[in-house]
Amino acid sequence: MSTVERLTVPDLLGRNTYEVDEVEAHIAIDAAVCATCAEKPCISVCPAQLYAVAPDGVVTFDHAGCLECGTCRIVCVTGGIVRWTYPRGSYGVRYRQG
Ligand code: SF4
Repeated sequence: MSTVERLTVPDLLGRNTYEVDEVEAHIAIDAAVCATCAEKPCISVCPAQLYAVAPDGVVTFDHAGCLECGTCRIVCVTGGIVRWTYPRGSYGVRYRQG
């Protein structure tokens, strides 16, 4: 009898690989605008958990590890995301079952 490998979502996402564009981030935020956002939905909806609030209250973001799902772009209603594009050619996520 064969065993079934049960993987969690983090396990599956961990199989992805990324070619991070260190020169040109495909997503950029304006922390000053984010500071005016009461709800900050990007924090809870990003499946890669790339948005955070630092102890000083500033919203932080790192494009490395982005899954390119576009969810943050949809939920951002204050205009804090000032740029959202797909990564330049050859950069970004490479899915491997995740
Ligand atoms: S596109 Fe998706 S994975 Fe990337 S930062 Fe936005 S919500 Fe997170």
